[in-house]
Amino acid sequence: MLDVLFITPNNSNGIYQQLSNKYSAIETPTWSLLLAQSCRSQDYKVAILDCLAENLSDENAYSRIKKLNPKLICFVVYGQNVNAGTTNMSGATRLAKFLKDKNKSYKISFIGSHVQALPVETLKNEQEIDFVFSNEGVYALWNVLRLNNFDDGNLKKINGIVFRDLSNSIIFNPAEKLVPQSRMDIDMPGYAWDLLPYNKKPFDLYRSPMWHAEYIEEQRTPYAALQTSLGCQFKCEFCMINILNRNDEQEIGVAGDYSSMRFWSPEFIIKEFDKLISYGVKTIRIVDEMFLLNPKYYVPICNLLKERNKEDNLRLWAYSRIDTIKNHQILELVRKAGIKWLCLGIESGDKKVRLEVAKGKFEDVDVKKIVKAVHDADIDIMANYIYGLPGDTKETIEKTFELSKELCTRAWNTYAAMALPGSQLYKNAVDQKIKLPENYEGYSFHSYNSQPLPTDTLSAGEILKIRDQKFIEYHTDKNFLIKIKEKFGDNAVNNIVDMTSVKIKRKLYN
Ligand code: SF4
Repeated sequence: MLDVLFITPNNSNGIYQQLSNKYSAIETPTWSLLLAQSCRSQDYKVAILDCLAENLSDENAYSRIKKLNPKLICFVVYGQNVNAGTTNMSGATRLAKFLKDKNKSYKISFIGSHVQALPVETLKNEQEIDFVFSNEGVYALWNVLRLNNFDDGNLKKINGIVFRDLSNSIIFNPAEKLVPQSRMDIDMPGYAWDLLPYNKKPFDLYRSPMWHAEYIEEQRTPYAALQTSLGCQFKCEFCMINILNRNDEQEIGVAGDYSSMRFWSPEFIIKEFDKLISYGVKTIRIVDEMFLLNPKYYVPICNLLKERNKEDNLRLWAYSRIDTIKNHQILELVRKAGIKWLCLGIESGDKKVRLEVAKGKFEDVDVKKIVKAVHDADIDIMANYIYGLPGDTKETIEKTFELSKELCTRAWNTYAAMALPGSQLYKNAVDQKIKLPENYEGYSFHSYNSQPLPTDTLSAGEILKIRDQKFIEYHTDKNFLIKIKEKFGDNAVNNIVDMTSVKIKRKLYN
């Protein structure tokens, strides 16, 4: 019998609207792969059902699950954009309800950023869920799988879970410890790549974002994502990625309270890159929130990757802290490692707005100088901006947009600031009784129901409308398209122009 089945929900249409047909990325399910491998190291029998990659309907998912007959169903609900965990709850709870309607005896658990942030509220609202894991869940999951049955008496003994007992009370057990740095290679021993579905060859159901593939369709697949570290040491108020480190039993978790970073050893993690390369995967995302932060780890990893990139055929991207990359030698090494894109969170063109929310993330750096240095090293940039941060006005947003046009990076992304569960902005919004989205999809950056935060001077609808207009304006800007053509050719330009013809609809202003 299968001990546990890890499920990635299919929610793409609800989030990305028409963009899901072609443009949105489909990423390998990092945490299903990590948890599956970790459970296999304890001799549990595991499988992965990636409903998103296979585009499974609930009915098709159910017939697969019926055949597999797992002791425990575990929905793993994070976002491929890490902040999209809450949005993906929509497809996950829909399928969970469908399964419970079909078979009441299924034991259904959830793990992921939304349930880490709001475990009690989730269990109150979602009767189909039996229990949730309150942090990354590695050790709690091992302990749950040791149980003969999941009755209240047994569940009460498992640290790191929150469950609904027979009398319908929500029981929040004490936190379970995270995998410590010293045991990362042992207790989270890599990725269960062999469990992923594929069509003709491994990884062919996964595709990178357009820009990562230099806007060339054929280069998007095969594709995979992997982490060389977990968490981040900073506390940006709009971000919830550290919520997976939570170690308390508060009803509302706030990521900034659990900021910490753990790393796999470079010698260990390079073997995961080697596996991907042996499967023919060259388009790879390094998911780490802050890959270029700690030279003790990233320098050896880059040196090891450099050995594997002698023909310059790897196409990697990674996130960097903006003030880590002033050093030309580092940039040269990064480029030789096959990292052809760096993703930089520039957030705002207004220094005051930026420093206010990005706690400790930025020293006062000259963004223009840094962007130039990265470009001079033949590395492209995905520049991320946020509109509608606390203190933002029409003028500061315009300033941010003008800066982005001046920087003219070959990829551009802007989000409207959102009170994502697990972030400080969410806690503030609850405390200040600011209107929050009415459903999971309202937390998506791209959905029809998207409901970002207002500022003192701009409504949520105004911010969203500006964001959508600027997306088109940037991607049809003459200077930007000339830069794309010079480096990636006419095909890339045509694909960008096609992409801008997709109009997304918004409840707040359409
Ligand atoms: S630097 Fe800030 S935005 Fe980036 S991962 Fe860390 S906390 Fe989140």
